Amino acid sequence: METLVVHGSNRKSVITVGERHSHAGAYTPHEKAFVVTDTEVRRLYPAFFRTCEPVVIGTGERIKTLDTVALIYEKLLEKEADRSVFLIGVGGGVVCDVVGFAAATYLRGVRFGFVPTTLLSQVDAAVGGKNGVNFKGFKNKIGAITQPDFVWCDPSFFRTLPEREIRSGLAEVVKQAFIADINLVEYIENNVQDILSLKSAAMERLVLDCLRIKAGVVSRDEKEQGERRILNFGHTVGHAVEQRSGLAHGEAVSVGMAAAAALSVRLGLLSTDKLTRILKLLRRLHLPVSLPAPADEIIAALGQDKKREGEALHFVLLNDLGRAVVREINLTELRVLLLEIFKETL
Ligand code: NAD
Ligand code: MG
Repeated sequence: METLVVHGSNRKSVITVGERHSHAGAYTPHEKAFVVTDTEVRRLYPAFFRTCEPVVIGTGERIKTLDTVALIYEKLLEKEADRSVFLIGVGGGVVCDVVGFAAATYLRGVRFGFVPTTLLSQVDAAVGGKNGVNFKGFKNKIGAITQPDFVWCDPSFFRTLPEREIRSGLAEVVKQAFIADINLVEYIENNVQDILSLKSAAMERLVLDCLRIKAGVVSRDEKEQGERRILNFGHTVGHAVEQRSGLAHGEAVSVGMAAAAALSVRLGLLSTDKLTRILKLLRRLHLPVSLPAPADEIIAALGQDKKREGEALHFVLLNDLGRAVVREINLTELRVLLLEIFKETL
C-alpha cells in the first residue's frame, strides 16, 4: 500500500493506493459517514455497503446535474446532517463530481472522501479537487475546487469494468505519461499485454504513477493558472471530436493526443520518430488515432469549450516524450494548421 498527499490551498488530501476495498471500513470515519453511490456500483458490490446503506443516485453522465445534487441535499436534511457529517462518494467520475460538489456547498462546505471505482476516476476525476456538474447541456459549468480528505484507490475494482471504460481510462493514463514521465511511457510500452489483461501489479503501478503526476501538478497549481493546463493535453481537439462523433471521452482524447503530437512535430518541437512511437502505443492500446468525422466538422467545433480565452487558446504540445509545453495559439491559425495535419497525418 502506498500513500500520497495533495496540498490544496485550504486542505490536504491523502491518497491511498493498493489496499483492498474489503478493508474500507478501517479507513473511513464511521459515525457521521453519509455514503453515496451509483446504481451499477451498488449492484456489483453489495458487500461493500453491508454496514452503510448508501444513497443511490442513478448512473451515467446524464445524472451529473444540479437535480442530483439537490437530491443529496434533501437526504442530508432528512437525516438532520450538521457540519460534522462526512460524505463518501463510491463510484466513477460522475459520483465523485456530484458528491464533491454537494459536499463543497452543503452548509457552505462539509468534509468528504472518495472511493473511486473506475480507472478514469482513480487516475483523474477523484484527484485534484475540481468537482462540478453539467448545466443546460454544458459540461462541468457549475462547480467548486475543494480537496477531499481522502481518496482511496483499489485497482481490483477494474475487474468488473466494461472494456470500453478501461480503454477510456487508459487514454488518460498515457496522457499523463506523455506529458510528464518518460519512464512511465516506457513501462507501458513494455507491458501492454499485462495492462490490457488488468494484471494487478501493472494496474497498481499505472494508478500510482498517474496519481504522483497529478498530485504534483495540482499541489503546484491548484487553480489552473499555469502548469495544471498541461493536464489538458489532447483535450482541445478531443472535445471537438467527442462532440462530433460517438466516441467516448478517452477515445476522443486519444485522437486529440495524436493531433497535438503531430502539431508538435509541425512546430519543430518534437521529432517524427517520437510521433511514430506515440501513435504506435495508442494503437497497441486499442485507442483510435484517426478522425471519426470529416475534418471540417471537427475544425468547426474547435475552441467552443470553456478553455477558450478571447481568440487565443492555451494549446498543450510536447517538446519531448514525457515533457509538455503550453503555447498560446490564435484560433484561426490553429484551425489552418490542424486542417493540414488532419489531411496529412490523421
Ligand atoms: P462514470 O462515473 O459514469 O462511470 C462509468 C460507468 O461505469 C458507469 O456506468 C458506472 O456505473 C460504471 N461503473 C463504475 N464503477 C464500476 C465498476 N467498478 N465496475 C463496473 N462498472 C462500474 O464515468 P467515469 O468514466 O468514471 O468518469 C467520467 C466523469 O468524470 C465525467 O463526467 C467527467 O467529466 C468526470 N471527470 C472529472 C474530472 C475532475 O477533475 N473533476 C476529471 C476527469 C473526468
Ligand atoms: Mg479528460
